[in-house]
Amino acid sequence: MELPHHKILISKEKIIQRVAQLAKDISDEMKDENPLVVVVLKGAFIFASDLVRRFDFPHQIDFISISSYGNATKTTGVAKILKDLDEPIKGRTVLLVEDIVDTGLTLNYLYQLFNIRKPKKIEVAVFLSKMARREYQIPIKFIGFEVPDNFVVGYGLDYKQQYRSLPYIIGIDE
Ligand code: 5GP
Repeated sequence: MELPHHKILISKEKIIQRVAQLAKDISDEMKDENPLVVVVLKGAFIFASDLVRRFDFPHQIDFISISSYGNATKTTGVAKILKDLDEPIKGRTVLLVEDIVDTGLTLNYLYQLFNIRKPKKIEVAVFLSKMARREYQIPIKFIGFEVPDNFVVGYGLDYKQQYRSLPYIIGIDE
């Protein structure tokens, strides 16, 4: 699968630096909380694995899989749970780790779903944010980078299910 015309938006070096800083910020905030780190599959798996390996405090890890896009590059507005959490979250601090927040539909859906289960609190860490396209306002404490309204690929984010393992972020010209 050939990538369409694109340019590098965030270098590998900048990502490593920023993720280290985020891990430190999260550690400062959560060191006494023993949070459940919830990784939203598939896109957040690389961000989450780099992040948690820098955590120097107790935590557990769980995964949730949600679909909102299919293979298209625009939202369908549909969110569906493909794999739910294995762990109960009642009374626990949850750190929700997501690859990118675009309209906010997906995070909003997860936030509402988790809230019903009565956790102690939910914090959100996203690697990328497209502020210009936000429709749902969710409190996000930890954001890696703001990006322009391009379709972005790499560091876990796919282009038609490929290129997730690129160590940098590219923006595709549309
Ligand atoms: P939202 O629900 O906030 O509109 O979109 C969030 C989800 O859409 C992300 O978890 C991600 O899977 C997908 N997404 C949104 N923008 C992009 C993008 O630029 N590139 C890729 N690969 N996925 C995106």
